[in-house]
Amino acid sequence: MSFAELGLAPELLRALADEGYSQPTPIQAQAIPMVLAGRDLLAAAQTGTGKTAAFTLPILQKLNATAAVTGARLARVLVLVPTRELAAQVGESVRTYGRHLPAMKTSIIFGGVGINPQIDLLRRGVDIIVATPGRLLDHVQQKTVNLSGVQMLVLDEADRMLDMGFIRDIRRVLAVLPKQRQNLLFSATFNGEIRSLAESMLHNPASVEVAPRNSTVDLIAQRVHPVDKARKTALIAHLVKGGDWKQVLIFTRTKHGANRLSEQLMREGIQSDAIHGNKSQSARTRALADFKAGKVRVLVATDIAARGIDIDMLPHVINHELPNVPEDYVHRIGRTGRAGSSGEAISLVSSDERQQLKDIQKLLRREIPSSIVEGFAPGSAPSATELASRAAAPATTHARPHGGHNRPQQRSSGPGGGPARKADGSQAHRQGQGRPQHKAGDSRKAR
Ligand code: AMP
Repeated sequence: MSFAELGLAPELLRALADEGYSQPTPIQAQAIPMVLAGRDLLAAAQTGTGKTAAFTLPILQKLNATAAVTGARLARVLVLVPTRELAAQVGESVRTYGRHLPAMKTSIIFGGVGINPQIDLLRRGVDIIVATPGRLLDHVQQKTVNLSGVQMLVLDEADRMLDMGFIRDIRRVLAVLPKQRQNLLFSATFNGEIRSLAESMLHNPASVEVAPRNSTVDLIAQRVHPVDKARKTALIAHLVKGGDWKQVLIFTRTKHGANRLSEQLMREGIQSDAIHGNKSQSARTRALADFKAGKVRVLVATDIAARGIDIDMLPHVINHELPNVPEDYVHRIGRTGRAGSSGEAISLVSSDERQQLKDIQKLLRREIPSSIVEGFAPGSAPSATELASRAAAPATTHARPHGGHNRPQQRSSGPGGGPARKADGSQAHRQGQGRPQHKAGDSRKAR
């Protein structure tokens, strides 16, 4: 199956050839004919499957085939996405694939940046709006956008939008759109809330489902390294330096944790940056650009900040901690191994994260291979250099060795600097065998 066989216009075929894409991905092969035929679409696909082109290409083709509404140029397509990064990325893809359709105009609308330049752009007239729901509603309220010409609506990463609490905003946007329109809904997961949104929004939709999450995950070499919590940063530095890794995306659970880890790695001589919701949009954009360009070797991110980040051929993803929600694991590791390239995902798992690991393995329906990195066996003594670098960073203390009680970091070295724990500690901690010594009771609390 080729792109030409899908019936795409020569201008789009040229853009695809420019990108070096020779064949449609499965979601593209299935979705493009449906969208061209005017059907509503319910698509189960996660990032990395080529889903952006799956909706962008037929949309561009349809827009190109029909004349713009005369007079005031009203947007005919609205793409709603959960995050600013994804808005920028999808907007970029629309421009890339529409490169040989110069008359097509796209506006990218998201919060955290000045609203006036967006108002100017909208006033001049656009064909496609790619937007996050909150800022779009600001424009609706200020009457600086007119959505009465929208013929096609895309909800991209709909599950994420609901996770982020956008359901009300989405419904408000739906309420101001023309009733007669084509709707495309993309989501990686389908729970009750998504289903009821889909039912209320889609008319006789075609369903496409590709890359059930396991097959994308299949491309990714996954590994668990059991390690003491207090030694995770040292292990990351060891892996990155030892393997001479050039581009590593690391996930942490908290914004604070992301900053701290990035600072610690800098101290280890590893060029790092962090992105999360507390950083300004320009800082996030810059960090991502530096990371893509190879100026920054490690990017530390929280789940929300990393959502939808698209980096071609990202070779390494590390989970500094496992996520509490098992689906987030799949989203995180999906950053690597995209569109057919292979990648590696490593999870550092301390003894208090056994429940999360179990839940993830249950979701994947498989066990993730586990190995201990030499010198980092749980319960073993850190080297003198490691202790010295930890001492230089007192703020990093967050050891919770057992049972969730906060205890000071010194627990891993005895009064003379030697190991306080016996060698049997490493046996007791072997991952994947034996059973947990205690239950991580609070490990599933909501985000
Ligand atoms: P997406 O799932 O939309 O985030 O796309 C994942 C990645 O696949 C992006 O880097 C795209 O540029 C790339 N991609 C999309 N379609 C194709 C294709 N047909 N062949 C190769 N790569 C593609």
